[in-house]
Amino acid sequence: AAERLANKIILITGASAGIGRATALEYAAAANGNIKLILVARRLQNLQKLQNDLQSTYKNLKSHISVLDVSKIETIKPFLSNLPSEFQKIDILVNNAGKAIGKAQVGDIEQEDINDMFDTNVKGMIALTQEIVKDFKKRNADDIVQLGSIAGRDAYPGGAIYCATKFALKAFTESLRKELINTNIRVIEVAPGAVETEFSIVRNYGDVEKAKQVYDGRIPLTAEDIAEVIVFATTRRSNTVIAETVIFPTDQA
Ligand code: NDP
Repeated sequence: AAERLANKIILITGASAGIGRATALEYAAAANGNIKLILVARRLQNLQKLQNDLQSTYKNLKSHISVLDVSKIETIKPFLSNLPSEFQKIDILVNNAGKAIGKAQVGDIEQEDINDMFDTNVKGMIALTQEIVKDFKKRNADDIVQLGSIAGRDAYPGGAIYCATKFALKAFTESLRKELINTNIRVIEVAPGAVETEFSIVRNYGDVEKAKQVYDGRIPLTAEDIAEVIVFATTRRSNTVIAETVIFPTDQA
């Protein structure tokens, strides 16, 4: 893996917490620090902490942190064109930023939350991918990793909007993979079940106690479990695509 990742430039959205943060650390470890990471999210302080953690462990690692709210679509192009020159030629995009807000019956869902979920999980993800694909096609670059979900395969009551966003992501991802057949660009979807991150806290509007009850005695996966899959899938031989990985705790049916 270290050889295949050497000097690669990897852009991870939603790197300030959870799966995104764990993926940055996993890539750094797999490459022995011989890698360039572009880490974006809305919370700059968390990104600074991650950058410090990475730089103190791997002296050779290069990282660039930046505030990027993917739901603000008009900011995506300027963000990409203003990247420092040594970070411009991205090799791997990890479309990880995403969220569920609230868990409510269809008639009770707030319009603001509907927009937030679609703007972040779908429209922002698509806008960033469009820009990256244009560039990847010119350079025959490597991989696009999509954070899907079991919620994008099996919808549940109270999750109408979040499930709809992840079904949309799955459809977009499949279509893109088929468009890019016979190129070097691999489109990889990783679809987790329950993972203990800030996800449930965000879903419960910041209520930590309520968030814990979500697991209901089950043992959720960790962000590292998902990061391992992402790094594994993007370090296979170049003719091999692990198109979809559905990964969930053994006690989650
Ligand atoms: P977390 O809430 O722990 O992390 C989400 C990350 O996304 C944070 O870094 C957050 O950073 C970032 N983010 C949220 N909104 C935006 C935005 N508008 N622009 C940029 N970054 C944003 O959740 P997870 O790590 O668990 O989730 C990561 C992905 O995995 C999501 O796509 C989620 O849907 C998916 N997933 C998670 C599962 C789980 O059980 N945890 C299960 C299945 C899929 P900040 O707030 O600083 O912007």
